[in-house]
Amino acid sequence: MNNLSAAFTPRSKPVESLPAPMRQIRPKTAQAQHTLHHAISAVGIGLHTGRSINITIKPAPAGHGIVFQRTDLSGAAPLPARYDYVLETHLSTVLGDRAHPENRVATVEHLMAALNGCGIDNALILVDGPETPVFDGSATDFVFLLDCAGRMAQSLPRRVVRVVQPVRVEHKDAWVELLPHDGPTLHLSMSIDFSARAIGVQSYALDLTPTSFRNDLASNRTFAMRQEIEALHKAGLALGGSLDNAIVVDNDHVLNPTGLRCPDEFIRHKIMDAVGDLYLAGCVLQASFRGHRSGHTLNNQLLHALFAQTTAWQDMTNLQSTSAAA
Ligand SMILES: [Zn+2]
Repeated sequence: MNNLSAAFTPRSKPVESLPAPMRQIRPKTAQAQHTLHHAISAVGIGLHTGRSINITIKPAPAGHGIVFQRTDLSGAAPLPARYDYVLETHLSTVLGDRAHPENRVATVEHLMAALNGCGIDNALILVDGPETPVFDGSATDFVFLLDCAGRMAQSLPRRVVRVVQPVRVEHKDAWVELLPHDGPTLHLSMSIDFSARAIGVQSYALDLTPTSFRNDLASNRTFAMRQEIEALHKAGLALGGSLDNAIVVDNDHVLNPTGLRCPDEFIRHKIMDAVGDLYLAGCVLQASFRGHRSGHTLNNQLLHALFAQTTAWQDMTNLQSTSAAA
């Protein structure tokens, strides 16, 4: 391990450190961890600050995980992209240092979704401000950056956690749950029910694969109600928001002149958010995720509930053949 990787090693690794329960497992061939072939940089507007943000995504050693690092704060600790480093979930998923809450990075979910969808396990992400660039409000530009950087196999197997008992959290009529699933990856199904008639009731389901992420999820944009935006602006938030980086809905109208990218863009974006939020498990989840009217808060609470219930999951990492890990 070189100095760089030592400096950015996450301070705790709950997924690795907890023992696997004694259970009959059907061995499967392990997939190798992957990082980027080379570093890639971009600049874009932050949704909430309206500031120009520089982002650099760098390769990182096997076992490093996804880690964010603020470069504009001297001495800022690295922020592992894990559910237990989430400080806020109100408007976006915000990673931060509880002891130094000014050390935070907001709106990580679309980049995390792209990393999950593209199968990147290890990366160091440098940002010079308190949020990632929003780009067009989807994951398209992050996927483009990862494609430009290239993908490189590493010497360790991917960390895989399999859900073996149902885990559910709910708030009023919103809920999310993780269920055991026979497939090799994450299955997601969600529904939403908005009073705004331009959205209404929508549902969608898919198996997460690199192909399904690119074709069915990555290009779907975030969205907001026109009335909400006015309130956010009065509170000094969403200062970078515009029709260039979000769908804006006014009851039965979509205000963007070019309309929607697909009729169910709203639910597809919500599933893309969940793909990003669930990657804060710090590993690949083998599970079926279901959600209704849910968002970042319940997604984060679900991961806390899962890892608190040690009988609900198995760490498969060391139970799979490593013959393919190269
Ligand atoms: Zn989103």
